[in-house]
Amino acid sequence: MARRGINMPFLRAALSFPVLLLLLLPPGTEASGGTWCYATQDATCGPAHWKVLDHQCGGANQSPINVDRKTARRNMQVNLGSDISVSGAGLPAVYNALQFHFHWGKPNGNGSEHQLDGNQYPMEIHIVHMHSKYTDIKDAATDPNGLAVLGFFYKVSDTDNTNYNTIIDGLQSVSYSGDSVDLASTFRLDSLLPSENLLSRYYRYRGSLTTPGCAEAVIWTVFEDPIPISSSQLSAFVNSVHFSASGQTEVKMQDNFRPVQALNRRRIYASKQASMSSGAIPALSIVLLLFPLLAIRLL
Ligand SMILES: [Zn+2]
Repeated sequence: MARRGINMPFLRAALSFPVLLLLLLPPGTEASGGTWCYATQDATCGPAHWKVLDHQCGGANQSPINVDRKTARRNMQVNLGSDISVSGAGLPAVYNALQFHFHWGKPNGNGSEHQLDGNQYPMEIHIVHMHSKYTDIKDAATDPNGLAVLGFFYKVSDTDNTNYNTIIDGLQSVSYSGDSVDLASTFRLDSLLPSENLLSRYYRYRGSLTTPGCAEAVIWTVFEDPIPISSSQLSAFVNSVHFSASGQTEVKMQDNFRPVQALNRRRIYASKQASMSSGAIPALSIVLLLFPLLAIRLL
């Protein structure tokens, strides 16, 4: 069925575990030039040093950015035709989901990676997709159209968002680096996202991975409407997960976000037209993996 909208088939997770690891290797193994980390782990290998470890992190088209709506260009996407269901709201191809993960701050500090008009949000989810012509993210990372990432902000609400119960329960099993748990759940990824009528408002720009090697291979789609979670749910991310492995000196996983990068000559596009399709992930298992990022692998 042809649908107008983003309709990125993030339910078609076709990639195997080793591919996922390339995105999520722990500190010390991903950057070509040496160890990388967040400053809350070790100030000497935090984001300010990443460009020393991998020159791409010093590039002109890095992510995240501040989405300044005053400078965004309205993109009415009049060229979207009947093939929207495969190209997805102006994306140049079909992209398959690899994994999703979160960035957050600390108990009294925000931690989204992107900002909207200079405002940082408490947390951000990234749903990482790869162009369907690739099977290895290393290859996709060399293509400016190789990856597509959906980003959503979070806001604190008065009530729990019960759609997050499965993930938050799972956090208790993955407190330390290297832990994993198979949630073995039939789980709707779209249940984590804002309701479909709110998915028409997003911003798009060309950027990079936000961890080393910072490949400038990502078409970013950052949604305007934040996802509500309660303060206790946010606290479950901020306070119960650790960078450190079990038995090591405890280092809480906090402030696992990269600061905003210069926009430079890039253009941000805004769209209010598209809508997003929804659907269930078919009977998949979800594994929480702890690396510098808390990631959830789509099997
Ligand atoms: Zn991310």
